[in-house]
Amino acid sequence: MRRFLLALITIGLVGGAGWLIGTRQLSSKDKAEVSQETDFSQPEAPPEEPEASEPQPEPEPEPVIQTPDDEWQLVLASALSPLPAGYAPPELETVAPGYQVDSRMAPALKKMIAEAKSEGISLMICSAYRSEERQKELYENKIAEHKATGKSDEEATAVAASIVLPPGTSEHQTGLAADIVTPENQNLDDSFAQTPAAKWMAENSWKYGFILRYPQDKQEITNIIYEPWHFRYVGEEHAKAIYEGGYCLEEYLYGVLNHKRLESFVISPTAQPMEADEAQSETETEKKEQ
Ligand SMILES: [Zn+2]
Repeated sequence: MRRFLLALITIGLVGGAGWLIGTRQLSSKDKAEVSQETDFSQPEAPPEEPEASEPQPEPEPEPVIQTPDDEWQLVLASALSPLPAGYAPPELETVAPGYQVDSRMAPALKKMIAEAKSEGISLMICSAYRSEERQKELYENKIAEHKATGKSDEEATAVAASIVLPPGTSEHQTGLAADIVTPENQNLDDSFAQTPAAKWMAENSWKYGFILRYPQDKQEITNIIYEPWHFRYVGEEHAKAIYEGGYCLEEYLYGVLNHKRLESFVISPTAQPMEADEAQSETETEKKEQ
């Protein structure tokens, strides 16, 4: 009930902010129109509309959008909302041997790992930034693997896409996601959820600006299976709102922030949730490369 109320309040606040922004934009536009009408320095320019013209319908208030400074934290990478071709974080920072993330979120990740350690929780990164090229390579290797078993191009691609996310659709390409396990349990499966490390992150990651990106109860929206090891940086303010509201990122962006770029977002109830992290095979491949 409390969550529901919070959600209502948040939606109300955001809606209110949207209305305010819309109103502000309207009034400045109105002012511009008024100043044009009273500008007699250009009398030769005839008004385009006759005086008796019908009043123009008021334009719809603009949906609330984040400021550009805030956009990077909320970038969405999914099958329904792929990253633009060539997308890469502006700067990478190494946070553990062999693992890099977007440098803007690196301090938060390091802080979370350090504070967990001070509370006796050992966290270990097992996957972080993955370039578009790397994702493409994984995807194409998987297609080749299935073609080698005699499948047609079409069949092999369909099978591969259900195992490895195609380039542009993996959140690891944003540099804002990390797979985090603990030395005692490095399995990317449901068993990890029972570890103190997973429980600690589920309860505390929002304080550092991270969210559990693929929750168990949101698989129909994210189209990704429950991944108790996959954490995504969205910044402290958004992480708190998402945690308290019980949203997944899609719900938050689309339902709460009314994010413009998600206009085509649809919930696909028939789709089977996929694995975003390709379970062990991908991790093992990454380990081999180090
Ligand atoms: Zn992951």
